[in-house]
Amino acid sequence: MIRFDDVVKRFGDHVVLRELNFNVAPGEFVTLIGPSGSGKTTILRLLMTLEHVNGGRIYVGDECLTHMPRGDKLVPANEKYLRRMRKRIGMVFQQFNLFPNMTVLQNITEAPVRSLGLSKGEAEARAVDLLDMVGLSDKSGARPSQLSGGQQQRVAIARALAMRPEVLLLDEVTSALDPELVAGVLAVLKDIASTTDITFLCVTHEMQFARDVSDRVMMFDHGQVIEDGPPDKLFTDPDHDRTREFLHAVL
Ligand code: ADP
Repeated sequence: MIRFDDVVKRFGDHVVLRELNFNVAPGEFVTLIGPSGSGKTTILRLLMTLEHVNGGRIYVGDECLTHMPRGDKLVPANEKYLRRMRKRIGMVFQQFNLFPNMTVLQNITEAPVRSLGLSKGEAEARAVDLLDMVGLSDKSGARPSQLSGGQQQRVAIARALAMRPEVLLLDEVTSALDPELVAGVLAVLKDIASTTDITFLCVTHEMQFARDVSDRVMMFDHGQVIEDGPPDKLFTDPDHDRTREFLHAVL
């Protein structure tokens, strides 16, 4: 569902990703771990097309994200092509980024109406189901400022799901939350991961969550995957000293 093919990303002279290769299968939940600065967020930002590759290609499903077909060649994707591809990918950020002047319901229905062309009624029906899924059925008329951080993040998850993405990217979704609110958000994500066929790529410092929910964990260092495996193996018996040191420091 996601394929990085010799991806290079530089900021000026600083090479962050050096010919990076990895795959994520449809429906898989993959977590990226590794020290700060190892390139995890850059990977998510490339998938969101907030950044662009300097080399290589990224594929989403059977389509190339970074390049589009022209004749029998692939050329760098243009804005129109990217707009269509972006609809396949959702993202939930550390900062919830809800629209403060809209209700919870409006926050969830806005993009499906504007960008997928759903009628207001269709979008609202979808939003009501999603609010039920994230346990916030009674908050549809509230403004974001009336909600706790955990509730706002659950609205942000519902808003991302309202676009029916095939891939959902999670970037440190619990980092801005008070500790007592973290479990509720993670429980919602675990439920979604086990009841939908969405493919997840997740960056988190919540190692217990990563262990609970991931099918596979990839350990990054200096923009390279240094270890890749099922969470039980990687967290208890890693092959690499670097993974062991990292886990020792964070656990
Ligand atoms: P991680 O998510 O693993 O902490 P990042 O992907 O955020 O790592 O960052 C990887 C490297 O890329 C870091 O050295 C960071 O300073 C650099 N970097 C990220 N974004 C930019 C940017 N917009 N401009 C310059 N350097 C950046």
